[in-house]
Amino acid sequence: MRYKTIIGLEIHVELMTDTKIFCNCTNEFGGEANSHCCPVCLGLPGAIPRLNKRVLEYAIKAGTAFNTHISNHIKMDRKNYFYADLTKGFQTSQNEIPICSEGYIEIELEEGTKKVHLQRIHIEEDTGKSIHTENDETLLDYNRAGVPLIEIVSKPEMNSAEEARLFLENLRATLKYIEVSDCKMEEGSLRCDVNINVVDSETGQKTRISEIKNLNSFRSVVKSIEYEEERHIDLLKKGENTDKETRRWDEVKAETVLMRGKAGASDYRFAVEGDIPPFILEDTFINEIQNNMPELPHEKKERFISQYDLSSYDAGVLTQSRDLAAFFEDTVKNINDTKLVSNWIMGDVLRRLNEEDLEIDSLKFGAKALADLISLVKDGKINNNTGKKVLRDMFDTGKDPNTIVKEQGLIQISDEGELEGMIDTVLDENEQSIIDFKNGKDRAVGFLIGQIMKKSRGKANPQVVNKLLLEKLKER
Ligand SMILES: [Zn+2]
Repeated sequence: MRYKTIIGLEIHVELMTDTKIFCNCTNEFGGEANSHCCPVCLGLPGAIPRLNKRVLEYAIKAGTAFNTHISNHIKMDRKNYFYADLTKGFQTSQNEIPICSEGYIEIELEEGTKKVHLQRIHIEEDTGKSIHTENDETLLDYNRAGVPLIEIVSKPEMNSAEEARLFLENLRATLKYIEVSDCKMEEGSLRCDVNINVVDSETGQKTRISEIKNLNSFRSVVKSIEYEEERHIDLLKKGENTDKETRRWDEVKAETVLMRGKAGASDYRFAVEGDIPPFILEDTFINEIQNNMPELPHEKKERFISQYDLSSYDAGVLTQSRDLAAFFEDTVKNINDTKLVSNWIMGDVLRRLNEEDLEIDSLKFGAKALADLISLVKDGKINNNTGKKVLRDMFDTGKDPNTIVKEQGLIQISDEGELEGMIDTVLDENEQSIIDFKNGKDRAVGFLIGQIMKKSRGKANPQVVNKLLLEKLKER
């Protein structure tokens, strides 16, 4: 390939601590505008911030999950800039010494596993929110001011939109597993900036980096990368270049739009945060957190492969989120057949959730109900197709599968006498199919089975029907 795309990501993640990073205000999403504020998070003169210990704990958990080096030396810096949603006139962040450095996230590509390295993870405060109304007014809500963030910065080591997507998926799943963030992109608790440029491998020429700000869905990350990739290649082809610039993604027009030339680091006039003097973290504090890490996605996947005898692919799908993995394990506790359970979850359950763009926690039924449904099919009380129909009802109504089967009279008919009667009727009505069968047309059998199933309103036991039908065809 002549053109090589180079992508680095910066991800802001809101931590789900109870309180904000420097004060005791609640860190709850939403709420009446400007009701979660105090002199500290508003940055009023004389207010003194105190660093929330939980923020350090969560950052260390994330740093450990992503294989980073954890710094004992904690130093906060002021990043100076003026913006209406930042009343302090500076954002308290970490410049020189991030709490976590280096590290990596692994992504699975067709050609094998790729390590995407991290530059750093640092802690900082979120800003307030500007809300632009239809009447050209700007309203300000400072509930978000002082919400704790970690900023995760990757090295520029991704080369396609797909790699960026896989990186983000792994990152989000891991952060949810270790319970440091809910990672709800629609609520802004995970926001992504993309840095991208393209190199012409024949001439060695490269474009200057564009930064695309504040992407709030994986889809827009992918779309904006694809758009920028083409735009940069076009620039190279024309022998043009642009300055380093900041752009935003316009969802409606499906294109990126220039916001401003990119500010350099010197514009921020970083200075040490004197209200939180640098300090040393005890090793025991860090070790305690590292020794009590929850199971990570790749660890759970390995365990699923060995404990439940699943394929690597199946284990990967079932552990893609902690909730899904827990749902699988709870179902298996109720019916000890891992293969059947994984087939049902990976098949009809996930398909339906994907169709409706829902997560597992929005199901109206629990693991016990799914286990009961699988038992009904396994024990031959209902056939497989009826099982799928019952599952659809469970999705819609949340009713128990046994109740659905009873209410709709769906119990499978396996009684040979009853089935023989139906088969005889169907054969009498379809003389031509019998002739076709005798002439070696196998399709006739499928047609006849379909007619019998129809007559039984889908309730006939297909194995018994198949056996009886073949016997009767030979007799005729
Ligand atoms: Zn506050």
